[in-house]
Amino acid sequence: MIQAIAAFADNYIWAITDDQQGLAAVVDPGDAGPVLDFLQRHRLKLAAILITHHHGDHTGGIAGLKAAYQSTPMIKDLRVYGPAAESIPGMTDPLHEGDALVLDGLDCALQVIEVPGHTRGHIAFYGHHHGAPVLFCGDTLFAAGCGRLFEGSAAQMWASLQKLAGLPEQTAVYCAHEYTLANLRFACAAYPHHREIANRLEEVKSLRDQQRITLPSTIALERTTNPFLLCANAQTFADLRQQKDSFRG
Ligand SMILES: [Zn+2]
Repeated sequence: MIQAIAAFADNYIWAITDDQQGLAAVVDPGDAGPVLDFLQRHRLKLAAILITHHHGDHTGGIAGLKAAYQSTPMIKDLRVYGPAAESIPGMTDPLHEGDALVLDGLDCALQVIEVPGHTRGHIAFYGHHHGAPVLFCGDTLFAAGCGRLFEGSAAQMWASLQKLAGLPEQTAVYCAHEYTLANLRFACAAYPHHREIANRLEEVKSLRDQQRITLPSTIALERTTNPFLLCANAQTFADLRQQKDSFRG
């Protein structure tokens, strides 16, 4: 299973779990507390930590999780995978484009895609979980949006998003934040006559009214309703990203 652990105001820490094996891997644990609660509640041991980029709300829980597991045999096997191009405290396995990792006991095999833009070394994990395609994309691709350009250029981010848009359309997309509603408000302003975007906004409004999660998305849905994937070129993307930065919906 893949489950969301809510953290901070709007972060999701994704947990890949197997009840039979009693194991879990987590993606971008910004905070150790909610992860430890989750593991305890589901009686799971932590087997791996995956990190997409260096920001504190994605890495802040690494030390706490390592400390909590120091007294158990799991610590020897607790791998911390992350981008080789960034400094991640506690990282054991620095990764580059094309590197493969297999999460033992979780029926999950992933491959690294370098997606610079939000940060210089940002990576995404794409692969298969129980045979179904999955993508963990951190703060690069959001549902109906994309990450801010903190370290990379618009051209880099554009190329990174294009890489992700080229994945199989049934790929489940696990983003690191619940930003979908605000993203769709902007998307509707940018594309006022786009019927699919308008429909998606209504669906997401209703989910959020019930305080329900709007993720995972799919590559197919993002290709049709993500305004940043609808841009025809890097310049259009750069302009749209700038408009989003100053948008007050
Ligand atoms: Zn970030």
